[in-house]
Amino acid sequence: MPLEMGKVRLVGAGPGTVDLMTVRALRAVETAQALLYDALVADEILALAPAGCVRIQTGKRAGKTSMKQETINRLMLRLARRGLNVVRLKGGDPSVFGRSGEERAFLEAHGVEVDVVPGVTAASAAAAQFAFPLSHRGEARRIAFATARVQDGSVVEGGWSGLADAETTLILYMARDAARAAAARLMAEGRAPGTPALAVENAGREDARILSTTLSMLGEDVENAAFSGPVLLVVGEVASQARAAYAPSLRAASARS
Ligand code: SAH
Repeated sequence: MPLEMGKVRLVGAGPGTVDLMTVRALRAVETAQALLYDALVADEILALAPAGCVRIQTGKRAGKTSMKQETINRLMLRLARRGLNVVRLKGGDPSVFGRSGEERAFLEAHGVEVDVVPGVTAASAAAAQFAFPLSHRGEARRIAFATARVQDGSVVEGGWSGLADAETTLILYMARDAARAAAARLMAEGRAPGTPALAVENAGREDARILSTTLSMLGEDVENAAFSGPVLLVVGEVASQARAAYAPSLRAASARS
């Protein structure tokens, strides 16, 4: 008799600490029979998986290369076909730049049941930790989660005119190396050069760092900060409310206020 097909859960691990996971995510990890995890998932979260659980790292860490998406898809399918309860653990929320749509489509096309467990996305963690809101009455009526691909020093995608709107809080994921190009594009589309901007590294974790600057200085300041962890960029009036700012001009004093 064929094995009963296992199920795959795409689980948001949150920004990196166990106490920012949802209870549902925690239970999913504690009962996983196979765990595929991203580079961004913290060790203290991986340690929650049961002893007999198959653990597979899919993301880049310590110089290793990432698995191809196709390989990850096939692997999840193979494990589910073995009847295992598979957890695909991702940083933040799986629905925010987490390929949950692609993975769901692939698995469902092969008859595998898929569940998504939401998580705290990096933007929410950054806002909470550094005391700024993402929306603010009369000042920030819209929030955009975006990313920027850069080629030859310029942003590739179109659609930036809406992001240049003065009442939009723009959160840029995966954009550390695109900060200069993204800022240039926003200013070209009419966003004021003096718009407050932030770069937040390791949001939600103890070793988080925040750099407080303006849109016109964002590229240079991010480059000089030499961040090594995941970095989120925030552009918008709300950024002026951020506390404990690491101001680049005060770098020598390592400015934690
Ligand atoms: N699904 C994730 C995002 C994955 S894309 C989420 O919801 O948060 C990966 C990008 O997310 C990184 O390049 C970085 O821009 C951002 N990111 C993820 N975790 C972060 C963290 N703890 N601090 C700052 N940025 C983070």
